[in-house]
Amino acid sequence: MKKLIIVTCMIILASCSTVKQKSQQQEVESQDKLLLATLWYQKSAEMRAIYYQCFRNAETALTANLAREGITKPAAVVLDIDETVLDNSPFQGWQVIENKAFNYTDWSRWVELARAEPLPGAVEFTRYADSLGVEVFYVSNRTVAEMGPTIRNLAGMGFADADSTHMLFKTNTSSKIERRALIEENYEIMLLVGDNLADHSGTWEKRTDDNGIPAVDADRDMFGTRYIVLPNPMYGNWLNELLKHSEGGSSREKLVRLLETF
Ligand SMILES: [Mg+2]
Repeated sequence: MKKLIIVTCMIILASCSTVKQKSQQQEVESQDKLLLATLWYQKSAEMRAIYYQCFRNAETALTANLAREGITKPAAVVLDIDETVLDNSPFQGWQVIENKAFNYTDWSRWVELARAEPLPGAVEFTRYADSLGVEVFYVSNRTVAEMGPTIRNLAGMGFADADSTHMLFKTNTSSKIERRALIEENYEIMLLVGDNLADHSGTWEKRTDDNGIPAVDADRDMFGTRYIVLPNPMYGNWLNELLKHSEGGSSREKLVRLLETF
């Protein structure tokens, strides 16, 4: 009997250590993909130029959309927050240096600091919309508990409408469909800005193994007119869905398997 108990304990201990090793391995592996993407985001002049270009395009599109006939409700624009108006790349950089996978405890520490820098052109765009009498709504998957520091951060950087009546944060679902519908009860959304196509339409919340690409081709007239898309090579639905639809052990194996080559 004693022997049986000892053997059982050894098996449990061995399996615990395998689980621990596995999770440590996953943490290390999962950070590979962040290095180059984060450096591009933080250090390339191209990144800054693209953000300026997109927000300039957003101003032109907003002006044109406001001139349309048949607008019966007050006008609004909808913006995502993370990697749309606020730059959280220092958090990604920290993940690489510390070799830590994304987790909400560390993320909340970063959010609490309320010191994310505004992305190039973002503050100016919200102030431009405001100057035209357009309400600015922030539809974000930050949690309601993170609203205080987020408002401090946005208001401190000079964003328009940085108050709780203009923030629709995540409660029970990451889907933004219902939150957009809530805004549309009283406003006409003239433009949507985000780094993830799910910020623009429910079409791209779940992607099949076509990665949502045919749907982009089908909706091509919306881009630059109603949808403004910003670049985020670090994370997003594009990456989660790729990993979901690829087989392999480590995330690196899965990603390499997806590459096209000649
Ligand atoms: Mg975002």
